[in-house]
Amino acid sequence: MPAWDPPRPLISPPRARRGGTRPVHEVALAGEVLRLVQDAAAREGFARVSRLTLEAGALAGVEVPALRFALEALAPGTCLEGAALQIDEPPATAWCDPCAASVPVRSRLDACPHCGGLPLRPTGGTQLRVLDLVVHDR
Ligand SMILES: [Zn+2]
Repeated sequence: MPAWDPPRPLISPPRARRGGTRPVHEVALAGEVLRLVQDAAAREGFARVSRLTLEAGALAGVEVPALRFALEALAPGTCLEGAALQIDEPPATAWCDPCAASVPVRSRLDACPHCGGLPLRPTGGTQLRVLDLVVHDR
């Protein structure tokens, strides 16, 4: 007689997720940045990158140190190996209807610095993008 196997759950139990840092998010972003650079390398025929400049807006939801760490971890063996990595963090801007003006904000929860009005509509600094690549043929 075979030993009785206890039934296994069909769905694995959910994993607890801690709030705060989300390194997985930055690892996925770093993978996307690397893919963009590799696509450009295939299209334009360069072999390596000596400098990569990214822009992570203040409202882009990117932990810049985590993104830098993830990119440095992915770089060996790719065209980004040895590349200097610069990540600019420009302040974000948002539109305030009562003031009919664009105002600087540090987070999506900020009120208008002039009239205290809420909500503001983010108009800039919401993106992560590649600003510049310095490339070499070999
Ligand atoms: Zn205002």
